[in-house]
Amino acid sequence: MEIEAQPARAIADLRALAELTGGPGGARRLCWTDEWENARGLLREGLAELPVEVEIDEAGNLWARLAGARPETVVIGSHIDSVPNGGWLDGALGVMAALETLRAVAAQGTPPCTVTLVDWADEEGARFGRSLFGSSAVCGTLDPDAVRDLRDAGGLRLVDVVAEHGVELDRASASQTRLRDVRAYLELHIEQGPVLEGLGLPVGTVLGTVGVERNRVIFRGQAAHAGSTPMTHRRDSFLAAARFALAVRDAAIRHGGVSTTGAADSKPGVVTAIAGETALLLDQRHLDADVLAALLAESHTLADEAAVAEKCTVEWESLWNIPPIPFDAGLIAAARRACQAVSGTDHALPSGPLHDAAEMARRVPTVMLFSSSTDGISHAKEEDTPIEHLELAIRAYAQTVGAAIDRVASA
Ligand SMILES: [Zn+2]
Repeated sequence: MEIEAQPARAIADLRALAELTGGPGGARRLCWTDEWENARGLLREGLAELPVEVEIDEAGNLWARLAGARPETVVIGSHIDSVPNGGWLDGALGVMAALETLRAVAAQGTPPCTVTLVDWADEEGARFGRSLFGSSAVCGTLDPDAVRDLRDAGGLRLVDVVAEHGVELDRASASQTRLRDVRAYLELHIEQGPVLEGLGLPVGTVLGTVGVERNRVIFRGQAAHAGSTPMTHRRDSFLAAARFALAVRDAAIRHGGVSTTGAADSKPGVVTAIAGETALLLDQRHLDADVLAALLAESHTLADEAAVAEKCTVEWESLWNIPPIPFDAGLIAAARRACQAVSGTDHALPSGPLHDAAEMARRVPTVMLFSSSTDGISHAKEEDTPIEHLELAIRAYAQTVGAAIDRVASA
C-alpha cells in the first residue's frame, strides 16, 4: 500500500520530546527513570489519537496495535530511551517515524494486515551495562540470572529497579508470545557514523549488523636492561606488538572490514627496561561471517610472523564474539527501492553498532534504514541530522513499511 507520511509531524513530535526530556546537557531519557516514563507519556498522547490498543509487556516494552484485516503483523519502532546526555535522535527518530507511519496507515482505514508499533525497553543498557534488554527478552536471548545482580552507579540492583517499573524479571521471557503473528520488523535509526554524510547521502539501507571478534593478544619476549642489552640481543615484546598492530590494520583494509587495537599494556612498564610482555586488545568486525573468519585466521599468521621477527612468542585469548546478523533480502530490496524513489539514491551499508533489529532479525524478516548523522556524532548532545535528510528518511521508511504490509498481507 502507498503510505504518504507527513515528516513534519514526526519532526514536531521529536522537537516536543526534546523540549520535555532534553536541554542544554542533552537528552535525559535514561531507562527505568521518571524521565523515561515522561517520554513514553508523550508517545502515549500521540497514540491516544489513533484506533490502537496500547499495552506494556512482561519485559517493559510498549506495543500499540492497529488491528488489520488479518492477524499477521508488521512491527515498526525503535527505542525512546537514551544514554545520559544523549542526542535528540538516537532511538527517538525511529519511534516517532513509526508513530507517523501508523497515523498515515490508520488514516486509510483498516489495513490489510495488522501493524504494531513497539518502543523497546532499555535498548541502551546505559544504566546497568546490558544493552537490548527488552528486545532480547522478546527474542528469547535474555538470561535473567545473567542480569539480576547488575548494579547501577548508585548501587541499585537491576532486578529491583525494573520491578519499580512493573517488570518482574523472572517473567520477562513471557513477552516472547508477542512474536506469535509477527512476519516483519522495520526500524529507522540515525547512522551514528560518518559513511552516509561522507558520500553526500541523506538515507541508506542497512544490510545487517556486523559480526565481532574480540581478543587479547599477548606477546612475550624477555625483560632486560635498557642500557646494557645490545640492539642485536633483544627479545622486545612491544616491538612485536607494534609490527602486529600495523600488519593487522592493513589486513582489515584488504578484507574490507575494521580492526582496532584499542589498548596496549607492557610489562614491566618502566623506561629503563625492555618490555618483556605486551598485551593488545583487538576488536575486529565484518558483515560476512566467512570473511571475518578469514581475517581472524590471517591475523593469527601475522601475529606469529611479528613474534618470530622479534624472537618472541604469542598467545591469543578470546574475550567475546557474535556472528554477523544479516537482514532480509526481500525487505532490503524494498528499502532500496524506497530510498531510490524518495532520494534518487539507494546506497546500502552494514551497521557497526548493534540494534534491537539485530535481535529481531534472529526471529523474523527484518530491515533497517539509516539517516545520515552530522559529523558522524552520536551518544552526545551534538548529535544531529539535517532536517531535509530526516524528512527523506521518514518518507523512505514509511514507503518500505507499505511494501512490507503488501508482502505480509498477500503471503
Ligand atoms: Zn539507538
